[in-house]
This record gives sequence, C-alpha cells and structure tokens, in this order.
Amino acid sequence: MPFQDLPARLAEVRERIELAMERGGHGQTVTIVAVTKTYGPDAPVAAWNAGLKDVGENRVQEAASKMLEVRVPLRWHLIGHLQRNKVKELDGFHLVHSMDSPRLADALASYGLARVRPMEVLLQVNVSGEGTKGGYEPADVEREAARLKGFAGLAVRGVMTMAPFDASGAVLRAVFSGARESAALLRAAGHPATELSMGMSGDYEVAVEEGATLVRLGTVLFGARSA
Ligand SMILES: *Cc1c(COP(=O)(O)O)cnc(C)c1O
Repeated sequence: MPFQDLPARLAEVRERIELAMERGGHGQTVTIVAVTKTYGPDAPVAAWNAGLKDVGENRVQEAASKMLEVRVPLRWHLIGHLQRNKVKELDGFHLVHSMDSPRLADALASYGLARVRPMEVLLQVNVSGEGTKGGYEPADVEREAARLKGFAGLAVRGVMTMAPFDASGAVLRAVFSGARESAALLRAAGHPATELSMGMSGDYEVAVEEGATLVRLGTVLFGARSA
C-alpha cells in the first residue's frame, strides 16, 4: 500500500497541532493542507483515505492532471507561483494561496468577474524580506487592501507566508506574527480575511502557536520528495 505510514504520521501531526494551539491561545481552527506536489495521484487519494479533505499543489498543470485521475471530492489548493496566463485554468481549485502581485490580483479579479464567481484567494506576503521569495512587501499590504476593496471578482480570505528555511525560533515567530498583522490590515479594510496559511513540515508548530489556520504539510506526511 502506498504511503502506509500516513495514518500514524498524521496522528502525530494532529497531536502536535493540538498542543501548539493550546500554547498559542489564539483559539483558531487549524486545517491541514496535504502537499502532494511531485507525488503521483496516489498521494491525494491516500490523504483522503486518511481523513484529510484538503490537498496542495504548486503547479497548475501537475494539479490538473491529478484532478483528472482522482475521483474523491478533495479541495485543491494552489500554493505555488501562478502565471497570469494560467488564471483561466483555476476552476478546479478551492483556494489560491499565492496571489503575490497587483498584476496577478488584476488578472484573477477579471477572471472571477468573467466566470461570475469570485476567485477565493490569499495575499502572499513576503514578511521575511528574502529576495528569493515572492509576494507583497508588508509595507504595501494596507494600500493593496484598499485598492482591492472594490474588486467584485476576488474574495480575499487572508494571508499566506513562508518563513526562511532553517530560521531560528525568534525569526519564525516574527515572520508568522507579521503575517497575522497583515491579515488584520486586510480585515480592517473590510476583507473577509480570517485565514492564515503558514507553517510547513519544519515549522508548523510555531506557525500554529502564532495563529495559523492552514498548515501546508508535505514531507512530514508523505516522506521525502525525490523531485
Ligand atoms: C512544498 C511546499 C510546502 C510543503 O513543504 P514540506 O516542507 O514538504 O512540508 C508548503 N508550502 C509551499 C508553498 C510549498 O511549495
């Protein structure tokens, strides 16, 4: 059976999330997004069989080919950078975590209007300021929140961020609490921005302590990726 360790791995992750929620005291609900990129369609199926409802992919094309083969009603999340010419291929997705620029926001909003159903999105914020990471600068969030207010084609549900790889606990905490502040700015501008997508296999406990509502977990559930 592929991914036969998944139920045990998931049980441990759920326990750690539970404890982190108690330590953090934010009182949120945490949803696990099982990141199935690079694995075949058996990974989302294994996630479903283990009781998960949400899977994440970082490429539209790869996700689309899995969606064709996977019959179970999973919610698909796009977590990787998206090119503007791909927005018309997003109908199968529940939530786009990676809206990382005003130009992409414009393209997503136009498509949301055209299909008469808003695109459900998170604003990706580059809290850590690493040059290799995409996303809005924290200083630009307030202005963008105001600009997006009139966009009927978008439902801005919150913020996504990525912490630097191998960051110290203090840096992780600063990055994740910065994302929480960006989400508060979105809400202050009137957006329904209650989601915080933050935390991966190496740092999800700190993210949950800081209020994460969506954790994006790959290797801790499925084992090392080969690609
Ligand atoms: C791959 C990926 C993840 C999952 O990473 P793991 O360390 O395997 O948990 C989470 N978020 C994004 C944006 C990713 O690309």
